[in-house]
Amino acid sequence: MNDWIERDETRVWHGFTQMATFALNEPVIVERAEGRELIDTEGRRYLDAISSLWVTTLGHHLPELDAALTAQLGRVAHTTLLGNGNRAVVELSEALARVVPVADPHFLFASDGASAVEQALKCAVQYWRNIGLEEKSGFLALQGAYHGDTIGALSLGDGFHNEHFDLLRFPVLRARGYASPGWAEEACSLVAANAGRLAAVVIEPLVQAAGGIWIAHPEDVRMLAESCRENRVLLVCDEVATGFGRTGSLFASRRCGIQPDLLVLGKGITGGYLPMSATVASGRVYTAFMGDDLGPRTFYHGHSYGGNALAAAVALRHLELLAEWNVLANVEARSEELRQLLDERITPLAQVVDVRLCGLLGGVELKSHVDARAVCAEAVRNGVLLRSLGQVVPLVPPLTITSEELERIVSVLEQAIAVVSENGSHA
Ligand SMILES: *Cc1c(COP(=O)(O)O)cnc(C)c1O
Repeated sequence: MNDWIERDETRVWHGFTQMATFALNEPVIVERAEGRELIDTEGRRYLDAISSLWVTTLGHHLPELDAALTAQLGRVAHTTLLGNGNRAVVELSEALARVVPVADPHFLFASDGASAVEQALKCAVQYWRNIGLEEKSGFLALQGAYHGDTIGALSLGDGFHNEHFDLLRFPVLRARGYASPGWAEEACSLVAANAGRLAAVVIEPLVQAAGGIWIAHPEDVRMLAESCRENRVLLVCDEVATGFGRTGSLFASRRCGIQPDLLVLGKGITGGYLPMSATVASGRVYTAFMGDDLGPRTFYHGHSYGGNALAAAVALRHLELLAEWNVLANVEARSEELRQLLDERITPLAQVVDVRLCGLLGGVELKSHVDARAVCAEAVRNGVLLRSLGQVVPLVPPLTITSEELERIVSVLEQAIAVVSENGSHA
């Protein structure tokens, strides 16, 4: 066995990974990267077709982002945002304010998507308390939702064996998700019937990503947003996966024509470089927290590394590059090409149930008898890094992916499905 894999499994505990079989699954131990390719400790190259679990937008080891990071290192790496500020964070917040789909936005920074979701939940509950409606403390979330792995986020979430934590999870009102036709009508009726006790509805606008890449009609999402507004229930849009161009517009909320009261950002915010997330509150929500110094209206919440200056500097440069490089146009054009390639070569396969794609967030659902993990392992052996999600093979390439690279991903996937089915039929 490769020495690095052995050293890794001896001491590292990998998330969402059964460590008893870690080494058997031929993990890739990355040493460095160039653009959209990862290079392992043996010098083998892999096209990063999952964008390092959906965080990488422009690519790895980019001179422009490296420069932004080292320039900030020459000033200061981190200072606290509790009671004091940092220039890099001010500049980033101003730049984000110009583009986020939130009215009069205010930014509360954290380090992971899940912590930004927690912040949104606490903001929503305290918002209603601050205006004297403390009975509005519940949440509505959707089937197939994924909002992260902390306890509050797990409470909203559905699946991934979260039943282990049922004693810790708070109950939520559950409506059907994007996989079920008619989901929006049902969610709207639940909102209307429970408005008096709901603090907020929490959704992943447009695409339920980790739940299996399920795509909603933008009008359905807009209908739910409208129902929230009419019934005085806050709308929280978790754009941790869909934000920063992944679906073809900078934010999926924009594509749905909605403005959430609270927006959650993460993953792509630094282009995949550094851990940073943010909860974006509308002016209306933010204003309800104004009050006396040290008083009860204050939001008593803050993470040690929230608003890290290195992450902020990279996030700011990343936002500029998205525009300078016209990345959204590439997402649109490549998404069209990917759709054609999938239609021609993957959808017709007997092993495939369904192919779903929105921007460069896609998934190929395989029939239950096909070993999706083995398909991904075969793709990895052929130099394309994929990781299955149940029976779905997510296709989430960097937003700067080229036509040739898409062609390579689809060819390798097609071949991997064939090889695995062949092996399976001999078993
Ligand atoms: C990944 C994800 C999260 C959790 O983000 P972490 O940074 O992994 O904590 C939350 N919401 C959605 C929609 C996600 O895709």
